Amino acid sequence: MLQRSALLNEAAVVHGFTTRHGGVSAGPLTSLNLARRGGETDAALDQNWARVAAALGMPDAPIGLASQTHGVTVLDGDAATGPGRFELGEGDAIVLTRPGALIAVRVADCVPILLSAPGAVAAVHAGWRGTVAGIVERALDALLARASVGPEQVRAAIGPAIGPCCYEVGDEVVAGLLAVAPAEVALRPGPRRAHADLGAVNESLLRAAGVRQVERVGPCTRCSPDHYSHRREGEATGRFAGVIGLRARP
Ligand SMILES: [Zn+2]
Repeated sequence: MLQRSALLNEAAVVHGFTTRHGGVSAGPLTSLNLARRGGETDAALDQNWARVAAALGMPDAPIGLASQTHGVTVLDGDAATGPGRFELGEGDAIVLTRPGALIAVRVADCVPILLSAPGAVAAVHAGWRGTVAGIVERALDALLARASVGPEQVRAAIGPAIGPCCYEVGDEVVAGLLAVAPAEVALRPGPRRAHADLGAVNESLLRAAGVRQVERVGPCTRCSPDHYSHRREGEATGRFAGVIGLRARP
């Protein structure tokens, strides 16, 4: 159900990247779908999120979620109340400083990024548009401001996303990515068109912003039977999540 980052585990950060296993959703959404999709029920979503929160050891926590738009808005996760899922509004990153809560971004090929600093955490949804627009830097800036620390204190986990093996892209994406990263980081030659590595671009953006501790976690989602993939399964597929939180103070 959950894949974790060794780097975040070392700092005892509550977190995980979900797989598509261990939930109650049926059909093309089988089984741990975590976002409103055609054919999904509120009861299944509630049950799936309850299982994720329980697996993270925080069954009663509010879970702050974003209505993702491929933009650069960073939401305040402290506004979430629970238990269970809580919609914070439109945005592509969430920052949390309130103990006893979780935040999450939902993906199916886009890049989920979890950031941790002493006293604050963030979750980031980075597709190619958000990556080019600077969503990971915006989220990092918000995290550093809320935690009052420097980037050297941040740990970053970049989760399962479509890899350069499968992410064939057109001229618009190539031009966008080359504006923010060198070709040797962003692109690979493909049999027809260029292939892109969004995870590598986001890692390079974090390192350029001074984050030294960055880990890549998980497989290519289009190659992996354990993840939802928009490229493989189309619009009907579900969403898995990158989840991070702060334990309640004892
Ligand atoms: Zn692949």
